[in-house]
Formats: sequence, C-alpha cells, structure tokens
Amino acid sequence: MLIAGNWKMFKGPAEARTFFDGFEAPADVDVVFCPPYVSLGSAVETGQTIYAQNVHWEPTGPYTGEISPQMLVELGVQGALVGHSERRQLFGETDEMVARRARAALEAGLGVIACVGETLEQRESGDTELVLKIQVEAISFAAGAHERLVIAYEPVWAIGTGKTATPEMAEEAHAFIKGLLDRPVLYGGSVKPENAAELMSQTSVDGALVGGASLDPDSFAAICWAASTS
Ligand code: PEP
Repeated sequence: MLIAGNWKMFKGPAEARTFFDGFEAPADVDVVFCPPYVSLGSAVETGQTIYAQNVHWEPTGPYTGEISPQMLVELGVQGALVGHSERRQLFGETDEMVARRARAALEAGLGVIACVGETLEQRESGDTELVLKIQVEAISFAAGAHERLVIAYEPVWAIGTGKTATPEMAEEAHAFIKGLLDRPVLYGGSVKPENAAELMSQTSVDGALVGGASLDPDSFAAICWAASTS
C-alpha cells in the first residue's frame, strides 16, 4: 500500500518540521509527502519520502515559476505529482502537459503519481470512462507502464468536498484504469480515518492520495494504519 499526502499550499518549512516531529507510520506502508516547493528541503532532511506537487518537462530554461526534474533530484526529492485536478482546473494544464511532465520526471529517475478523474458534470452525463480513457492514455502514450509510475484516481467532485466515491465506485474506476495501464492506482477524494479502511479493502485500490486529512499528523497516521496489514 502507498499512502501519499498532498499538502497543497499549506505548511512552510517550520510547520513542515513540526509535522514530522509528531508523525509516525506503520512500517509496512509506503508513505509519501508532497509539501509546497519551499518546504521540500526541510522535508527531505527528515529522511521521509518526499515528492513535489508538480514538475516541468525541461531541465532548464525560460519557464518562470517552474521547477525541473533535475532540480528536484539535486534536492533529494524522490518524485512528483502531475496532473492534479487543481492544476488542470485552475492553471489550465492539459493532458499533453501532464504527459510531458510525467515522462520527463520518470526519465530523470523520479517517481510519478499522475492524477486523473472526472468532474461531476462528466460523471452525470455518463462520460466518466471516456474522460478517464483520454487522460490515462495520454500518460500511457508518453510514459508506458513505467515501474515508477503510479496513477491516482481522484474524482474532481470528491476533492475537498467531503463527498467520497463509494468503495464500489472507486473499485469500478480503478479496474477500468488498470485495464488501460497496468500500474498501481491510488484513490483520492475526501479520504479520512473513518473511510480509509473500507476504500483500501477494495481489490483494485492500491493506496490513497490524501489532501486535507494529511495536514494533521494524527489523522494522516490513522489513515496509514488503516492501510496497514500489521
Ligand atoms: C487531493 O488534494 O488530492 C485530495 C484528494 O484532497 P482531499 O483529500 O482534501 O479531498
């Protein structure tokens, strides 16, 4: 099981250090933290597995506000999220950009958690599988079933809303994604200590990508324990 915490634009370096002082996870769960860029350095120093929240596809260049895979490697960061729905929806990221980010990060030796998921409107109009197919195939075309690539299924309507996909909905979407690309699939969307165990018990759910509930060491640890077999 892999449990990843996406801190979004929360926790500067000092707050990040305080979090790690109070965090302990079970040994049989792989835990990844995705702090904001400015906190990556202090997070790496803790010895935890640290991913960035995004990464550019070029090694250097005139790309104001972007960070390259090689820069992350130099800092000791082990991977990056790509294609988070907030990047897609608020910052105009396209499937092509997401695919290029994923490929460059993998080529540089990083791990990648590539996020996909449908909006409420797409689900209600019966287009969930169409949307997932387009998003996953763009990533698959660029990167293939790379051993350091993980997909995160995050229905947009479940992110930060308190609405969770039912375990059956998650299972159905995960199985569909695995049929397109044979890689582990994390579930993301309002995962909490109370619903984590049931979601994680689904056959095709290989872990979770957690936003809000990853900000508190106790609640994030409780989710990690729910994913643990020990
Ligand atoms: C996320 O940001 O990836 C996420 C799933 O957020 P939340 O857990 O808060 O819904």
